[in-house]
Amino acid sequence: MDLLAKVEELSGENLYACYQCGKCSAGCPMVDQMDLLPNQVILYVIRNDESVVEAKTPWICAQCYQCGTRCPRNVDITKIMEALRLIKLRKNIDYLKIGKVKKNLPQIAVVSATRKYTG
Ligand code: SF4
Ligand code: SF4
Repeated sequence: MDLLAKVEELSGENLYACYQCGKCSAGCPMVDQMDLLPNQVILYVIRNDESVVEAKTPWICAQCYQCGTRCPRNVDITKIMEALRLIKLRKNIDYLKIGKVKKNLPQIAVVSATRKYTG
C-alpha cells in the first residue's frame, strides 16, 4: 500500500479534495514552528513523497482543528497529521524516554504524551 492510500485509510480523508488554497496554513497557530506548511503536507502525501513522514510538522501540530474549520473543501488536516504520526509510530521508535519525564506533571499530560511520542 502506498503512502497516499495509507493516509487515506487511517484518516478517512479525501486528499484530492484539496485545491491548495492555503487557508489552512494561513490560520494555523503553529505554522511558525513547522518545516512544512499544512497544505504542503497534503501535496507531499498526494505525490507519495515519504519524506513527509520524517517532517517535524505532524509533531508540531497542536491538533486544534482550526485548519479543518477554515477549509472550503472540508479536508480535516488534523486527522491527516494524526495518520502521519501513526505511520511513523508504527515503526516502533520511541521519541519520549519515560524515565526522563518529570514526576510532578499532571497524569493526563503524561498519558497524552506517551500515546503521541512512543512506539
Ligand atoms: S484549506 Fe483545504 S483546500 Fe485549502 S489548502 Fe488547506 S486543505 Fe487544501
Ligand atoms: S490542527 Fe494542526 S495543522 Fe491544523 S491549524 Fe491546528 S496546529 Fe495547524
